[in-house]
Amino acid sequence: MKFRTVIEPFRIKSVERIRLTTEEERREFLHRAHYNPFLLHSDQVIIDLLTDSGTSAMSSEQWAGIMRGDESYAGASSWRRMEAAVHDLTGYPYVMPTHQGRAAEHLLYTRIGGKGKYFISNTHFDTTRANIEFSGATAIDCPIPEGRRPELVHPFKGNLDTQQLLTNIEKHGAENMAAVILTVTNNSGGGQPVSMENARAVSAICKKYGILFILDACRIAENAWFIKHREPGFREKTYRAIAQEMFSLADGCIFSAKKDALVNIGGFLALNNLELALQCRSVLIITEGYSTYGGLSGRDMEAIAIGLEEVFDADYLEYRIRSIGYLAEKLQEMGVPIMLPPGGHAVYVDAKAFYPHIPPEEYPGQALVCELYLKGGIRCCEIGSVMFGKYDEAGMLIPAQMELVRLAIPRRVYTQSHMDYVAETFSGLLEGRGAVAGFRITSEPPFLRHFTARFESLAEVCV
Ligand SMILES: *Cc1c(COP(=O)(O)O)cnc(C)c1O
Repeated sequence: MKFRTVIEPFRIKSVERIRLTTEEERREFLHRAHYNPFLLHSDQVIIDLLTDSGTSAMSSEQWAGIMRGDESYAGASSWRRMEAAVHDLTGYPYVMPTHQGRAAEHLLYTRIGGKGKYFISNTHFDTTRANIEFSGATAIDCPIPEGRRPELVHPFKGNLDTQQLLTNIEKHGAENMAAVILTVTNNSGGGQPVSMENARAVSAICKKYGILFILDACRIAENAWFIKHREPGFREKTYRAIAQEMFSLADGCIFSAKKDALVNIGGFLALNNLELALQCRSVLIITEGYSTYGGLSGRDMEAIAIGLEEVFDADYLEYRIRSIGYLAEKLQEMGVPIMLPPGGHAVYVDAKAFYPHIPPEEYPGQALVCELYLKGGIRCCEIGSVMFGKYDEAGMLIPAQMELVRLAIPRRVYTQSHMDYVAETFSGLLEGRGAVAGFRITSEPPFLRHFTARFESLAEVCV
């Protein structure tokens, strides 16, 4: 018998209570959080789709690894396991453990960045861009044009536009290119995959011009699923072999272990080049910790080593990608405008299309995020002009390319009924959507403003 239902390929051994709140309670919580769900308390949330980062459920094997963790300061066996796991997967000889992905970004991008330097990426993730800009360098996003159109179906919308890459190299000079960063899957661009063909093309250009090629690889297992199922020539290959092939095209990687390493904290930087690795390692020791633990405890490193194995399990990846597709299909059937096709870790709702009456200056994504919380207790994240908007010299908002709301699905945490509940919440939102008002920012920090900005509802301002 061939089953249509893709079940969660695990049993639940330990559970965590969800507190079921009322809409009335949530109205008060949201007001107190200044309409920024990042400022909510987690126990005020029913289904937390804010991020898939660090929110994975660990396996019983990983928890067993936690007990085995070797907490020696130098040369711990847990470090040797993690180093071997990373080396085996990536092929890069120099591995530096960090407390999370952005610490690895900081180590590398402050070394190779600085004023007058340029970085090109399919899309820089927010912490990536922040680290690059903090160093004084310029980060330029070059996704393929299809990647900017939410309604368009394309198998590899995460691809980098190689023509634009060449144009930028010509314009700014190869010697001023600090690195090309390929984000797989492309998180800020909708969780969309990058094809092997595109990675090969980017690799060839970087080799030709002598530019460092870095993979932002924290979802490379999920990316491998798309390559196996969508790109000719990969059907017979294992997910792991596909990932290994992609790593072999680059000079190194940044990896947030909070994604595909299935742990709650951790990351690493891995490089081919000894000289660059030594420079990064010096800063690692100053800012993170000694080179055999970075910012991590032995038990964290043990869990990462195990997670990097588990994530390539074919049954797990099938369930993982299917669970995103399941929610996406339900929303699409209802007429919710979503980014197509769905990506590997999240469903992205096109808030501009969902609330066409709210202009970008009034943050339609933030309006949707707040409504989802209010009506269903669902917490999610705006990826639009709140996250990426800038101001021109006159202080006017330069909006982001797209106004998206990301429903990120934590790994191995929620079941099908939780996703059904999310879909049901959307059906409620569809009914009253014409009456929903936008927002105004009342205070914001200079970097990564979406985490702490405070908002005021324009509906409340009117009355
Ligand atoms: C999460 C993430 C990072 C940063 O990693 P942290 O562990 O959150 O510091 C960098 N790049 C991408 C693509 C990410 O998704």
